[in-house]
Amino acid sequence: MSHNIEYHTFSEKRSEKYISDELNRICRERSDSHGGLYNIVEFPTSKIFPSYDAAEEYIESIDTIHNYRNFAVKFAVEVKESKRLEELVQRERKINAELVTLKNEHHFKNAKSSFIGCKECGSKISTLYMERRNTCPVCGFDMRPKTVLGRIASKQDVLLHLRDAIREERKKAKPTKIAWLAKIEYHT
Ligand SMILES: [Zn+2]
Repeated sequence: MSHNIEYHTFSEKRSEKYISDELNRICRERSDSHGGLYNIVEFPTSKIFPSYDAAEEYIESIDTIHNYRNFAVKFAVEVKESKRLEELVQRERKINAELVTLKNEHHFKNAKSSFIGCKECGSKISTLYMERRNTCPVCGFDMRPKTVLGRIASKQDVLLHLRDAIREERKKAKPTKIAWLAKIEYHT
């Protein structure tokens, strides 16, 4: 027996009745009791959330005890992108790609010396071995120089700020395509 929480999406054009009927049908098919949902589907707000994640976050915020309540709210699938939003999204992609490359780089690949000392545990590791990794095989310490780690940290910081700015900008943007996000809960 397991407890299921599921999210389903519907076109904005679907009525509250259609959504309720459809979710009840899904529950009848899948749940162990084969009855419908244990509670009605609630439509708690007319607000349109700026994204799927924001809608899901809202549902989670009002559904804290998981007592088989069901909710449906609207969210923007697409928004009219302002010039600023477009620029932010492009910068975010670019920096994210740079960060992935930087993180995946094997720093000691072209090292000249035959051993690399771990500053944490003092082990001397063969450079041949370090060609394919950045951490000390003995203690797990990240052996890359502080300058490299600093570059990674500062890119991560920039990304966090960009993502905040994108989220804020999206809130202001006008939705051009809307959908319903519904959460249901039942036993199987
Ligand atoms: Zn070590």
